[in-house]
Amino acid sequence: MKLEVKTLRYLTSDDFRVLTAVEMGSKNHEIVPVHLIIQTANIRHGNVQRCIAELARRNLVAKECTSKYDGYRLTYGGYDYLALRALSKRGTVVSVGNQIGVGKESDIHVVADADGHERVLKIHRLGRTSFRTVKNNRDYLQGRHTASWMYLSRLSATKEVAFMRVLKEHGFPVPIPYDHSRHCVVMEFVDAFPLRQITEVAQPGKLYAELMDLIVRLAQSGLIHGDFNEFNILIKESGVPTLIDFPQMVSTSHANAEFYFNRDVECIRTYFRRRYRYESALYPKFTRDATREFSLDVKVSASGFNRKQLKELDEYYAERGEIAEGEGSEDEDEESSDDQEEEDGTESETGSEEQTTSDGEEGKTKPPTATPTTMSVP
Ligand code: ADP
Ligand code: MG
Repeated sequence: MKLEVKTLRYLTSDDFRVLTAVEMGSKNHEIVPVHLIIQTANIRHGNVQRCIAELARRNLVAKECTSKYDGYRLTYGGYDYLALRALSKRGTVVSVGNQIGVGKESDIHVVADADGHERVLKIHRLGRTSFRTVKNNRDYLQGRHTASWMYLSRLSATKEVAFMRVLKEHGFPVPIPYDHSRHCVVMEFVDAFPLRQITEVAQPGKLYAELMDLIVRLAQSGLIHGDFNEFNILIKESGVPTLIDFPQMVSTSHANAEFYFNRDVECIRTYFRRRYRYESALYPKFTRDATREFSLDVKVSASGFNRKQLKELDEYYAERGEIAEGEGSEDEDEESSDDQEEEDGTESETGSEEQTTSDGEEGKTKPPTATPTTMSVP
């Protein structure tokens, strides 16, 4: 989905009122009836029709005819517009530059704020992925309407920013969150490469320990990242890691907390073994190491959304996680030669835990296209 920045400049304030009316109507109408748009926009009748036509021409709304009435629905383009307009009013995004990442569920752009600082704009796009290829299709994913995908995308962005705020405040290495509107988050641009692109690490043991320590510190604060993989760990030139991508985080009180914790740990173990030929007998265990010292989970859930919303999002991520595992990884071929290594009993010494990795999620994000494909860190 392309971000049409040009549109921002050409819409009049009446167009904006009409677009806002469609957004407001979308809260309780899948297709917003024209009379409701006219009533809500509160501008001259003739003007509304003209504005709607203009918005439809720019693909910010789309006409839909039902058996009962004709109306319009907000498109993702329209939703992007509303968010960008809010962010630009506040001066947190005044220009949009290159797209640096395309996840399955987000678009990442470099943007600039009013003072010319580089920032990252993450646009959440849940439901973009087609689940067609997956045998294990679930009706509720397929049957969702655009409006509910937008709703989930907004929840996802809201959750991400709430976690980022709390994590940053408590000294975790995460980007600074600057602003948020609807399904968009503006955050610090981290000048770094995803671990996925780091071919060589001079002291893999040091980095491994730092990452495991991060998993443990999170758990001691009541949190599990839930997608702690090589795409979501950015490594600065100095070798220091920054953690990103928080919408799927769960509390250590979650019913499946142990599973998620172990999966994060296994993900790092597997990656270091395959990529850097590094293996350690030492790795954290939920039952031993995840002793709660703080309750950041409670703090986050008290900030901005209610239980029902969190549950809806949780269900989505749980479902998606299940599906993603079935999808397999982009790099399966490249790495399959190493699979044997896993069977080599090197783990028997440290425990007989079932191996659970989130490898299947590797295809979820793609590394930035504008950067070199490999590098090494000290
Ligand atoms: P998704 O939820 O789609 O996986 P991520 O938040 O993981 O989205 O971002 C996707 C990619 O965009 C990352 O792997 C990284 O390359 C890039 N990226 C995301 N946030 C930042 C940031 N704050 N600074 C620099 N690059 C980023
Ligand atoms: Mg990611």
